[in-house]
Amino acid sequence: MEPKISLSARVKQIKPSPTLAVNAKAKALKAAGADIVNFSVGEPDFDTPPHVCAAGKAAIDQGFTRYTAVPGIPELREAIAHRFAEDHGWHYTADQIQVASGGKHGLYNMAQALFGPGDEVLVLAPYWVSYPDIIQLSGATPVIVPLTEAKDFDLEPEVLARYVTERTKGIILNSPSNPTGSVFSRAALAAVGQMALKGNWVVISDDIYDTITYIDGKLPHILDVCPELMEQTLVLNGVSKSFAMTGWRIGYTAGPKHIIAAMNKIQSQSTSNASSVAQKAALAAVSGPQDFPRVMKEAFVPRLDFILKTLTEIPGVTCVKPSGAFYVFPNVSAYFGKSFKGKPITGSLDLADYLLDEALIAAVPGIAFGADRFIRFSFATSMPVIAEGMKRFKTALANLS
Ligand SMILES: *Cc1c(COP(=O)(O)O)cnc(C)c1O
Repeated sequence: MEPKISLSARVKQIKPSPTLAVNAKAKALKAAGADIVNFSVGEPDFDTPPHVCAAGKAAIDQGFTRYTAVPGIPELREAIAHRFAEDHGWHYTADQIQVASGGKHGLYNMAQALFGPGDEVLVLAPYWVSYPDIIQLSGATPVIVPLTEAKDFDLEPEVLARYVTERTKGIILNSPSNPTGSVFSRAALAAVGQMALKGNWVVISDDIYDTITYIDGKLPHILDVCPELMEQTLVLNGVSKSFAMTGWRIGYTAGPKHIIAAMNKIQSQSTSNASSVAQKAALAAVSGPQDFPRVMKEAFVPRLDFILKTLTEIPGVTCVKPSGAFYVFPNVSAYFGKSFKGKPITGSLDLADYLLDEALIAAVPGIAFGADRFIRFSFATSMPVIAEGMKRFKTALANLS
């Protein structure tokens, strides 16, 4: 029966976050007693550092529990500006920074402030699951540009050029990338930077994983290779991944004053401000000692080495070595066309279902990231869990015929 109240056209064109959905299904199975190995989690398996928690508790005890300024408390925005200056040499004033309820919400504010019907926004696939839907919610059209495993999922400016039109309004860059872990090369960023300058695109650089890299030296960044882009670039970051604070919901954006002001207008008519208590905790994270992200990263290194070695020993599986973040994104398409008990595996969705049902492994199908030949495993979990999960994965693939 048709419900009496119909839904908006807007909501009908988007889908719920597939990564959150897989994680929810895995958690529900686990709660029901199933021995699930959960590789679907998109967050560090660390606790928020104690000094950050203490700052959150102190904020409650001190009654810091009221509305704050829409863009965030001034001392947090100052501290964020200081971080950008110290870590990158980029100079922002506090009114060039917005604090929002998570990085995802920052992106949402940006899209609402910048994009509308008729605009096209370039999104590189494999992409983070939320980019296309957040763009669509603004009325604009996400234009999906494929990256290739053969090129280590680096940007390919000649390929990108084929997707550019007069309506191209912006591009989203994510390096290190979720789901591939790839980092864009300086040369490719320089070429794309020139295209952005020429086309007057807004460049959105999602740097949420920039503290978790496995490369030597500074992560290549479009603002470093192409500083002229400062006037048209929004840098997105936050404490969710770097300080294991996903539940606190604090992200931030730095960029041109008039765009930040427009994003503040959107925020003032939606959430008003990010949680006052969480902002105080984020202040402790951003202005305190910066060794936590490094300690966390160092814990990820042996896990990455182990999962990559184990994966690539499986016949038919190939995997680009991640340069950052905490995901591997193997190509599993050699197993497409095979079947289990007469049930065919036609793509990543079938494979992920098979792995969950028959091997009790939760992983996110590549199709959620616009790359159906792949599957995403998070290694933000303990070594014994990774070992058990990889053993199951290997057996499950061998059982397909
Ligand atoms: C986790 C993540 C974010 C931000 O997440 P929040 O929890 O909303 O702060 C942004 N971009 C990518 C690619 C992510 O993986």
